Amino acid sequence: MTIAEIFQTMTYGPAPEAADVAQAWLERHDRKLALFIDNQWVPPHSGNYITSRSPATGAVLAQFADGDAQDLNRAAGAARRAFESWSKLSGHERARHLYAIARGIQKHSRVLAVLEALDNGKSIRETRDLDVPLVARHFYHNAGWAQVMERELAGTQPVGVIGQIIPWNFPLLMLAWKIAPAIAMGNTIVIKPAPYTSLTALLFAEIIAEAGLPAGVVNIVTGGDQTGALITAHPAFDKIAFTGSTNVGRIIRRATAGSGKRLTLELGGKSPFVVFEDADLDAAVEGLVDAIWFNQGQVCCAGSRLLVQESIAEPFLAKVRARMDKLRVGDSLDKNIDIGAIVDPVQRATIDGWVQRGIAEGAEVYQPACDLPSAGCWYPPTLMTNVNSASTVVQEEIFGPVVVAMTFRTPSEGIALANNTRYGLAASIWSENINLALDVAQKVKAGSVWVNCTNVFDAAAGFGGYRESGFGREGGREGLHDVLRPAWQARPRPFTPPLNGVHGGKDRKQPLPAPLNGKNGKTHEAALPAPLGESASASLRIDRTAKLFIGGAQKRPDGQYSRAIFDTDGHAIGQIAEGNRKDIRDAVEAAVKAAPSWGKKNGHTRAQILYYIAENLSARADEFTLRIASLTGDLGGARAEVVATVDRLFTYAAYADKYGGTVQETTLRGLTLALHEPIGVIGIGCPDDHPLLAFVSLVAPAIARGNAVVVVPSESAALVATDFYQVLETSDVPDGVINIVTGGRDALMKTLADHDNVDAVWYFGSAAGSEMVEKGSAGNMKRTWVNYGNPRQWFDAEQGAGADFLHEATQVKNVWVPTGE
Ligand code: NAD
Repeated sequence: MTIAEIFQTMTYGPAPEAADVAQAWLERHDRKLALFIDNQWVPPHSGNYITSRSPATGAVLAQFADGDAQDLNRAAGAARRAFESWSKLSGHERARHLYAIARGIQKHSRVLAVLEALDNGKSIRETRDLDVPLVARHFYHNAGWAQVMERELAGTQPVGVIGQIIPWNFPLLMLAWKIAPAIAMGNTIVIKPAPYTSLTALLFAEIIAEAGLPAGVVNIVTGGDQTGALITAHPAFDKIAFTGSTNVGRIIRRATAGSGKRLTLELGGKSPFVVFEDADLDAAVEGLVDAIWFNQGQVCCAGSRLLVQESIAEPFLAKVRARMDKLRVGDSLDKNIDIGAIVDPVQRATIDGWVQRGIAEGAEVYQPACDLPSAGCWYPPTLMTNVNSASTVVQEEIFGPVVVAMTFRTPSEGIALANNTRYGLAASIWSENINLALDVAQKVKAGSVWVNCTNVFDAAAGFGGYRESGFGREGGREGLHDVLRPAWQARPRPFTPPLNGVHGGKDRKQPLPAPLNGKNGKTHEAALPAPLGESASASLRIDRTAKLFIGGAQKRPDGQYSRAIFDTDGHAIGQIAEGNRKDIRDAVEAAVKAAPSWGKKNGHTRAQILYYIAENLSARADEFTLRIASLTGDLGGARAEVVATVDRLFTYAAYADKYGGTVQETTLRGLTLALHEPIGVIGIGCPDDHPLLAFVSLVAPAIARGNAVVVVPSESAALVATDFYQVLETSDVPDGVINIVTGGRDALMKTLADHDNVDAVWYFGSAAGSEMVEKGSAGNMKRTWVNYGNPRQWFDAEQGAGADFLHEATQVKNVWVPTGE
């Protein structure tokens, strides 16, 4: 083509980036990469290697080790040894190491960007301008957190040794999100990259060794999915941090249940991209390009559901099609392409499978007639219309350059459509009306909401999901919580050294939840009256059977059974209702109904109600003291418990309007607002001890932060909770905000853990009950908070009302609002 012709057509020619340095690095390793353990290259125990190909050409790039159980033992051992010294370094010393890593990444940024593009198929423009700079930024930002840890995060300690598993779509960035905060806070790690994209992690290994990171702090065990499963089962880890698909997340939730390992899951999404009629349409079209064609749409938070207001749908979609015609698909090392290669033929087949299914269900497909390279793995940008909210392609994550479009008429219809998904990772909202945009931002259920922008990330703001997009945050101050635990808290389950290398976790098995035994080991044969001689003494006799408390009213239990409660001498002192599954379902329904309006009440109103509960409890302090004493036989302790409970109610009345969120100091020009939103409906299982204080210590933070609760008191303590109905009835608590179902705690908690309309479960009971709750929660990936049978000192300010309560009662949504020209 002559220069004159170029001026005529104004088309781009290829602008290839040189790959020689990256290829030289692979050659230096003879294209055969070992495991990185204790700052050494360690050949895999099995001698097996996996082949890595360039998605853009299909050429073999290198082979990397397939780690097995022996390799993992070795890596976990190295990490555990390193933890002893690394966790004891001062924050400043760790900060210097993270700073050195950040500098190292910058020094080697070009080779990292090139190798990432080669290995993943994504465009060099993206790896050079986004992935690698953000990787460095995460280490800088977390160097800062290490520096100020002692001051800003007093009362915390590192979780320990963390097993991390990451996906292939942002190999380096996901690695940085996981490693930087974890090691900044004093943890050590074993990380497994995804099998399609393990090479840059190994280049990163050399960079951290060069930067002088002590041996064993970061260990990289490459391998297939089986290596990931070995990590989740290995007892050496105190925490598993996983990013990947919701299906695998569910497997991991079940596999780690009851182990005492902390777990964070960053999972899939089907994020809405909502365009209102008053949006800047051209800007929104460019936004859509970034939302769904960035990284070939292989982005967990891709704006893959385009929701357009009906009045502008036609012109907007016409603009989208015109823009799609101009998108260039091509070699990842070409600086002039918009869309690179799909990571692997298997992924390409998956994408096409979804598109064909959409077509079979009646969708119309638009794909521009773009030139696709002959070799390599490609998929054209794709727009699907004529779909509805039940279409498979609207509900399922396609994880490719495919957007589905639907229309809506009113903002409330748009919000309903946006939320009509089991996921909740991100949302992008386009409107020039700030009032509308910020209103929608608050109503959309997602961890990141971008207003008039999309796919903006920064180390100073957390990223993570609502609903089945997972739990936990990476980035920002909020992400640090997930790599720390309270200073007072030991590892919840003892560390068991591996037997013969591999662990299925069998040694952790606990007996099933105990049968429904009352105090002193009495079996409550619920339907039967108390045996002769065990009836209540005349002075303590209470001639009523407490009912359940559901939707603001006392309700008879569905099964019409009751059970006796005994005092310390074995005398029956009252009867409680025996709730069943149906009662739990009714209570959840009441809570689901109450949660939205309670969550929207301002903090002042919620505080007033908590103070009112405290006031009414205080007025009946003697009655509660006697009741607790009748159960515990300790009058002094009972009196102290009531006083402490009133104090606790004051604490959470105070926090009803003091934990709303912060402004994050991200690199965005504009505002990034971290909103601490309620989770929704929380199921709470109370411990056996401190029937009033523990009950209130759990319920008060949940409702203070706008959640509705279904509470199951422990059997032995249930009479105290049922006495509390009258306090609630006189304290203006809106119907359905607090629901109480008495009966066999663990059986009722199982129903709550399994229930799809419950958003989180807190359980303070036995180790076996904790395992049951964690397993059951996998259905809708609800958040759990359990104690594995470890008692808490409820009187203690940290253990009974520390930072973890407010953290567990909220989820962070980051709203990004660019401002200015
Ligand atoms: P994947 O779930 O198949 O694999 C992710 C990682 O888990 C890989 O390293 C894999 O080897 C490993 N793995 C697979 N099976 C395992 C098992 N049974 N036990 C333990 N580890 C196992 O996901 P993927 O295809 O690599 O990545 C795409 C998915 O990741 C998408 O669903 C995407 O939305 C999600 N993702 C989420 C985020 C986020 O931050 N929420 C970010 C990026 C990607």
